[in-house]
Amino acid sequence: METKSKELFERAKKHIPGGVNSPVRAFQAVGRTPRFMKAAKGSRIWDEDENEFIDYVCSWGPGILGHADPRVIKKVKEACDLGLTYGAPTQKEVELAELIAELVPSMEVSRLVSSGTEAVMSAVRAARGYTGKDKIIKFRGCYHGHSDGLLVKAGSGALTTSVPDSAGVPADYTKNTLVAEFNDRDSVEALFQSNPGEIAAVIVEPVAANMGVVLPEEGFLEFLRDITKNNDSLLIFDEVITGFRLALGGAQEYFHVTPDLTTLGKIVGGGMPIGAYGGKREIMQMISPDGPVYQAGTLSGNPIATTAGIETLKILKEDPDIYKRLEARGEKMAQAVRDAAGERVRVNQIGSLLSVFFTKNEVRDYESAASSDLELYAEYFGYLLDHGIYTAPSQFEAMFLSDVHTEEDIETTCQIMRDALCSLR
Ligand code: PLP
Repeated sequence: METKSKELFERAKKHIPGGVNSPVRAFQAVGRTPRFMKAAKGSRIWDEDENEFIDYVCSWGPGILGHADPRVIKKVKEACDLGLTYGAPTQKEVELAELIAELVPSMEVSRLVSSGTEAVMSAVRAARGYTGKDKIIKFRGCYHGHSDGLLVKAGSGALTTSVPDSAGVPADYTKNTLVAEFNDRDSVEALFQSNPGEIAAVIVEPVAANMGVVLPEEGFLEFLRDITKNNDSLLIFDEVITGFRLALGGAQEYFHVTPDLTTLGKIVGGGMPIGAYGGKREIMQMISPDGPVYQAGTLSGNPIATTAGIETLKILKEDPDIYKRLEARGEKMAQAVRDAAGERVRVNQIGSLLSVFFTKNEVRDYESAASSDLELYAEYFGYLLDHGIYTAPSQFEAMFLSDVHTEEDIETTCQIMRDALCSLR
């Protein structure tokens, strides 16, 4: 039953664009009514009609400890009593910056912002300010938030054309955004060759997770490290998803490749709005007030958000085995789907990130991800939803596991996934 969600969606559409505050929540790609949620605890989330789901969206990534972890909630409640925002420096900001530098050593100096979008936008500005160059390279299918210059995935077949994806973005704003293909070294080399001395930075999701989960092939990240270094460009890892998820030190620790700048979001805020960007002091001293690169924020370093972030990172730090547990669960789930679906689907998994692609092709870049059968995905999604499993309402998103998904949750989910795959035409 979804009576209340339907009613709320109708009401929402009157005063909110598409009825939602972020587009994928509208369930458009899967042709269903979005569930309006009212509570979440541990691995479970409940909608307004009292339906209970095992949640694998986990708020799109922050929920690595599951929902409403009592340790985080306690600290947040205490912090609320001290005031919600001061617009002045706090001890908490210092503690969070110290923790980030300890866990992600390449982020010697970092600045807090309020979203992943802001973190990326600011990191790109820092890279341009530092190198004195204007152009950046991004990869087709990688998402870096919704700032104008990054809403580009390139026109068909023309890697070097910088076409904005969104109405309202002047072509002038994206002319310095060049687009290469994920896992394709030649496409990157070609851009460096045709734009000599002009590339400020290459930005990449070290594990792409916004075209579904796509892993970097062996040596690809190392290649990006080398080519940027050899061309006096910076390498930016967008770790908004992978930060504190693949390992305590993120994808850079997992793959042993160190970028010049890193962007964080999601887990670093422990469920509250935070983003962060950072790198070596030499680069970050470009940021105002020390340097000429301007960047600011009314709620940046907000005391409630930093409290949730600090507590979450401390819990992760004190329990390094969490990543082994998450990996084991991710592998189990991936194997269950592979066994049940055979050749019909491809499952990409790393740690607690997973995607089931409805294609026979190996998924290694945007084109192969886009070869998926979206109608089949919608059917599969609908079956899971109707059987109490809440997953991303789009083929091109990740499934997120948390530390509180129990063995029983995983077993139940695997069985429903098998049934879902069997039920498909
Ligand atoms: N970068 C990556 C890799 C993301 O996945 C996202 C959001 O999903 C962003 C940046 C933007 O973050 P936010 O939605 O917090 O602005």
